[in-house]
Amino acid sequence: MASEVVQDNSGGDERPQISNSAAANVAEEVEELKLLQDAVYALPTHAVKDFFSLGACARCIFRLFGLCQKISSFPSLPTATMNAMLEKNVLGRDRDDNCSGSAERKDSGSQQLSSQTFVLEHAVCRICLGILDYVYHDEKEILVKKDSAYEFAKIVAESVKQEHPQIDSFSLEVSLPPVVMDNEQVVRSFMRKKYGSEHWFLQKTLTDCISIKDALKLSILDTLEKLLGTKSNLSTFRIRLTYETSEESRRKPDNEEIDGCKRRKTNMLYTADEKQASETSGSKNFAEHENKQYECTEGFAKDLEGHGSDYLKFQLEKESQPFGLVFLCYRCPIYIGGRYLKYSRNVSQTCWMIEDERMGEASVEEIIGGSILPLCQGDGYKFHAAGREDIDVRMLGTGRPFLVEIQNAHQVPSEELIKEMEMKINSQENKLVGVKNLKILDNKGWALMREGEAEKQKQYAALVWISRPFNDDDSKTLSSLQEMQILQKTPIRVLHRRSPLEREKVIHWMKVEKIAGSCQYFLLHLCTQAGTYIKEFVHGDLGRTHPSIGSILGCRAEILQLDVTDVKMDCF
Ligand SMILES: [Zn+2]
Repeated sequence: MASEVVQDNSGGDERPQISNSAAANVAEEVEELKLLQDAVYALPTHAVKDFFSLGACARCIFRLFGLCQKISSFPSLPTATMNAMLEKNVLGRDRDDNCSGSAERKDSGSQQLSSQTFVLEHAVCRICLGILDYVYHDEKEILVKKDSAYEFAKIVAESVKQEHPQIDSFSLEVSLPPVVMDNEQVVRSFMRKKYGSEHWFLQKTLTDCISIKDALKLSILDTLEKLLGTKSNLSTFRIRLTYETSEESRRKPDNEEIDGCKRRKTNMLYTADEKQASETSGSKNFAEHENKQYECTEGFAKDLEGHGSDYLKFQLEKESQPFGLVFLCYRCPIYIGGRYLKYSRNVSQTCWMIEDERMGEASVEEIIGGSILPLCQGDGYKFHAAGREDIDVRMLGTGRPFLVEIQNAHQVPSEELIKEMEMKINSQENKLVGVKNLKILDNKGWALMREGEAEKQKQYAALVWISRPFNDDDSKTLSSLQEMQILQKTPIRVLHRRSPLEREKVIHWMKVEKIAGSCQYFLLHLCTQAGTYIKEFVHGDLGRTHPSIGSILGCRAEILQLDVTDVKMDCF
């Protein structure tokens, strides 16, 4: 359908001529175009005239009369051809009417209509303000006008390709200033009031008449898919077209009263997330506005009898300048999760600086994030983990669940790329950190990890020293303790950053592994509730943790080394 369509000016027949297309397609397209012309010709002339004289663009008229779907099959159809079709409807019908003496309803003086009537008084459509005529101010404030949906889609596709040469799919979002929605309400109300009892209007279904936003999307979606070589769906890659009112109207105070109707706040540039948040939090105001708007249109409808389309014109007077248009394309965050292993006692989980001095030689966050980010070609990353271990504690065994959030990835990782990431991290020469089970997660991954974190059990291996020889009875004592409750006051070593609290924790079980040739050292394997301070459980923290290994064995106990050997969580 993307073939060139040019208007034939050579004779009286206004049927557009089609070129540069395969013969079969041409025949098919000519047939479809004929059907479209017939549909346009069948539109109620008096109503088309009303909208023409109002200053509505051809695409708005097609939209309001339910021809949007048909028009969208001709993305290359130039605006002039559409105008010509509508012109033929009005002028042709008038001629017919004059000949046959038809009694069909007409506005007075319509017989004198000439094609000059169709030169719009206003630079832009009074309803969509140029959106469906593809008129807008670009980011350099230069006025741009594209002649067809195809030409407009081309601009969008080019700007997408510049930033993201390769995308696997996309979703198209359109954001319009409130004044456009206001205009739509006014026009719909006008149509209901003026044509509500007419046969053609009663036959129309609600879905026939689509909004400006949907009409814009519909007009360019197929072409965008072709030009970008991919499908549109609920993709994490977003193409966002944001129409904004001119600088002048942005400087107007918020909620200014115009014609007794409140304007919605338009002077803020939102990111998609902020906008959603503000729409949610401000839903009451929005509802109030809608009610107010309803009252306005109701009042307006009552006045219609007296004022007719002049009143509609007045209602649509609020904006008459084309909007600024901002193209934005971005990838929603991608989440890559798995479990990490930390083999070093000198690597912190996240980058840890004290007075400009780095603690430890590296961080898990930087090693993993720094390896994944370039492969996804993202703008940045955030690292989240299910709990943390101290810098001098190794993370072994099953590893600890983590996820990395990649912002605006230009490359969506494939299965192979994920494997490549895993290899890259695991084959680093210094062997400080490793990963396993690396995979792409959906946006619920983060919540899943946080949920599991509170319930999880953790297993440790601790190298313990006691102040007297360790004997078999000690070993039996420790192994016999199961589901033991302990009380822990916030450890002295973290009191400077944690509030002083007393927490009840559970030691699920303990096992002792003797170290050959040593009587005061042993390896303690233990499984505890999440959040237990293990170092304090061993030495007692000056009595702040009770009972402790020291208090149970009745001697001094010190912890020399600690490894996390398992983090029991279902996720990752
Ligand atoms: Zn329009």
